[in-house]
Amino acid sequence: MSEKKKGKSQAIPQARISVLLVEDEESFVDALQIGLTSEGFDVTIARDGVEALQEFDEGSFDLILLDMMLPRLSGLDVCRTIRGQSDVPIIMVTAKSEEIDTVVALEIGADDYVTKPYRLRELVARMRAVLRRQAAEGVASGDEDGFEVIELGDVRLELDRRRAIVRGEEVHLRRKEFDLLAILMENAGRVLTREVLIDRIWGSDYIGDTKTLDVHVKRVRTTIEADPKSPLMLTTIRGVGYRFDGKPKTD
Ligand code: CA
Repeated sequence: MSEKKKGKSQAIPQARISVLLVEDEESFVDALQIGLTSEGFDVTIARDGVEALQEFDEGSFDLILLDMMLPRLSGLDVCRTIRGQSDVPIIMVTAKSEEIDTVVALEIGADDYVTKPYRLRELVARMRAVLRRQAAEGVASGDEDGFEVIELGDVRLELDRRRAIVRGEEVHLRRKEFDLLAILMENAGRVLTREVLIDRIWGSDYIGDTKTLDVHVKRVRTTIEADPKSPLMLTTIRGVGYRFDGKPKTD
């Protein structure tokens, strides 16, 4: 295989990124092996859940692409087992009918998911986003006074001072709105389910109605998005939850 690369798509500095592809449908395996290899990934294939865990034990992977419906051991079981041992990024591959399993997968620690059918370009974008998030884990860094700061997209959050700066101007967020934005930005690129967000912001004894979350999301969008009707940073994942998309400023 030629190592010659097109010098673009340089989001991740490492030369080759090793991916464990867990998929039992031959047509997907073939297409992904070709597509991902040409995008600069090293692809190892496992065709069922048991094989996936064996490969995982023997190899060293930067990312796992994990089909939900697998022979011998389900994608959920594989995800749970790997998560018990490792923080390696996991992207679940699901069918439309598996929405409930998708929510479970995110709750047991999958980082993101894609729904079949998907385009290679979309998948690769998700993979890069998850890797970027991991590389930037603790984008939250200290500022000159040692206060914790997260800066992504148009937004700079000064966590200790509880200040939010959007496109260079300080904006006002209420307490829970700030908490919501902080949690989403700390997990940028990753889908957070409604349940997780409500639990983390309001606590597990929350008894209000679930619209409260949507109201807060709406207010945060009005504050941070250039066009709140077409949000570019705070993204809705239908039926599941929300995700913050924002490239680190230091691109
Ligand atoms: Ca399958």
